[in-house]
Amino acid sequence: MTRRLLVASRNAKKLNELRRILDEAGIAGIEILGLDDVPPYDEAPETGATFEENALAKARDGAAATGLACVADDSGIEVDALNGMPGVLSARWSGRHGDDAANNTLLLAQLSDVPDERRGGRFVSTCALVVPGGAETVVRGEWPGSIGRKPVGDGGFGYDPLFIPAGGDVTAAQLTPAQKDAVSHRGRALARLTPALAALAEG
Ligand code: IMP
Repeated sequence: MTRRLLVASRNAKKLNELRRILDEAGIAGIEILGLDDVPPYDEAPETGATFEENALAKARDGAAATGLACVADDSGIEVDALNGMPGVLSARWSGRHGDDAANNTLLLAQLSDVPDERRGGRFVSTCALVVPGGAETVVRGEWPGSIGRKPVGDGGFGYDPLFIPAGGDVTAAQLTPAQKDAVSHRGRALARLTPALAALAEG
């Protein structure tokens, strides 16, 4: 029997990555649906203080509204020189939700006086899987790196053109999708979710 899995994200580029990574994991017996494939429902605002709280709230909402197993990702970038901000506020750091260009401009301005050796940070992805009447699983993946001085590259989304993964000298936006998925916070988080998804497919 095929189990239907709702991936609850309104961010088209993030949804694309989640689908791509789940497809690549090749978990037999799972059919992935997006929010456009299910009747609309009220989605809770992202008011949690942590990625974990937000991911779990989104996955619980989706599972309760549709009766389907639901995966949600809450993610963002933590910058050491900004005491871990923007963190859970990453999508709306500039004040306009989802405005990647404005978010990047603001981040660069905030770091304009910060020297190279203090521009470290990490992407964080927390993924929650909620199975109606069943288990809740929450996993986290991190991708360390540093913040560059200008946007470079056209791939990915969000802060990717500013983020230089540790150990390299290109930005996340210069990686191919497969290169990004192999090492990214989202790739690492979803790899940790694979056993729970495999159990869902079998159960
Ligand atoms: P949310 O999880 O929908 O609250 O939004 C996550 C936000 O974090 C995105 O809008 C991006 O600004 C940022 N973000 C999360 N993951 C990535 C990534 O893989 N690349 C670049 N930016 C990301």
